[in-house]
Amino acid sequence: CGIVGVLGQHEVAPILVEALKRLEYRGYDSAGIATIENGKLDRRRAVGKLVNLSDLLVHDPLAGKIGIGHTRWATHGAPNVANAHPHRAGKVAVVHNGIIENYRELRSDLAAEGIGHETDTDTETVALLADHYLGQGLDPVGAARATIARLEGAYALCFLFDGEPDLLIAARKGSPLAIGHGTGEMYVGSDAIALAPMTDRITYLEEGDMAVVTRSSLVITDHTHTPVNREARTIEIDT
Ligand code: GLU
Repeated sequence: CGIVGVLGQHEVAPILVEALKRLEYRGYDSAGIATIENGKLDRRRAVGKLVNLSDLLVHDPLAGKIGIGHTRWATHGAPNVANAHPHRAGKVAVVHNGIIENYRELRSDLAAEGIGHETDTDTETVALLADHYLGQGLDPVGAARATIARLEGAYALCFLFDGEPDLLIAARKGSPLAIGHGTGEMYVGSDAIALAPMTDRITYLEEGDMAVVTRSSLVITDHTHTPVNREARTIEIDT
């Protein structure tokens, strides 16, 4: 339901939770974040209000200067911790808004490769596919692209990759997604409202776009994989 991503210069866990709070008005049943610390991907998730996630993070903190976060409004699979985002498979964590309509076919294709699923969600399939493509030797950009090519339905996605502390990959089709520009930092949000405390410089992705984001660069390609120029604009939102 709500997506945030931060490529930061400081600890991101509190920033991610704060950004998710700004999306609370949309409604949600669970929430979670994933970060990379010392090259290693890790995540924390909790059912119910964001305060449950904050409490969990007090007892079991998550360090790192890059991360993704999600507030979930369950469409496939009960609202429980296992089904909460970020979903993880091997080296990939992903947050997703929307519905992957063909997840059953994708699951059976993965099962044919000996890859099983652990949750009841449509979203886990996205993480499993991306990790599968990494295992076939594709780099993160290639793996994300190959994964997206398999998806039918509506999505905003943000990927985080183990061992890649300066990379977020975001994509949208049928669900909005904005990239925020900071100073030595970059952000991803399903709504610019989430990013308002950090920046008012926003680039909106268009339908079928994929964004490869680092702290110092943003490369957007369209559905034909052609690099495109999407203008950054200064927006006015009350913080
Ligand atoms: N379909 C996904 C799920 O049920 C994402 C729902 C959402 O947009 O929050 O987990």
